[in-house]
Amino acid sequence: MKKLFLLLGLLLPLLIMSFKPLKDKKVIVIDAGHGGKDFGYIIGNAYEKEIVGNISKKIKALHQKENIELILLGNSDTLTSVEARVAKINQLQPDLVVSLHLSFSDNKADSGVQAFVSEQNPHYTQSLAHAGKLIQTVAKKDLKTGQVKKANLLLLKESQSPGVSLELGFLSNEANKNYLTSDNGQKIIAKKILTYLNK
Ligand SMILES: [Zn+2]
Repeated sequence: MKKLFLLLGLLLPLLIMSFKPLKDKKVIVIDAGHGGKDFGYIIGNAYEKEIVGNISKKIKALHQKENIELILLGNSDTLTSVEARVAKINQLQPDLVVSLHLSFSDNKADSGVQAFVSEQNPHYTQSLAHAGKLIQTVAKKDLKTGQVKKANLLLLKESQSPGVSLELGFLSNEANKNYLTSDNGQKIIAKKILTYLNK
């Protein structure tokens, strides 16, 4: 009998240890691609920096799930360099980084949502999967589904977490621009991105 208790005494801590809780929160970084003196693409009075900044703030404002920690980067004028943002990302070690941008083309007919991933990112395959699904989530009738492209953007290749640069539409396309600059369009995009992140 004593031996049995001894055995239980040895096994119990092992048993408890094997039920270690999972990481309690998923950490997601939303990077508002541009900030400070970096305005990104500009067409008339539409600034990429302002549009992606507004959308990232809307994502944060709509965010409710307690098991997901959303961290915004690039909105303040103090953390604007890509190097500084990469350092912050690697310190946070998030589950996913979504960097928000807009596209621009000399061909005004070009439109839609596209994304970039880096083959040099240690989580390339995972990033690729997220990119495809994020495009599907955000695209709609007037904002057609674009492609996932490869580019070794500094933020994507230097981040040690899965990362996607998501381009939410073409600022050079009139219909895309009108949607992206409208409060309603920005809200819809923010809600859609959040829906994906909550999955
Ligand atoms: Zn950009």
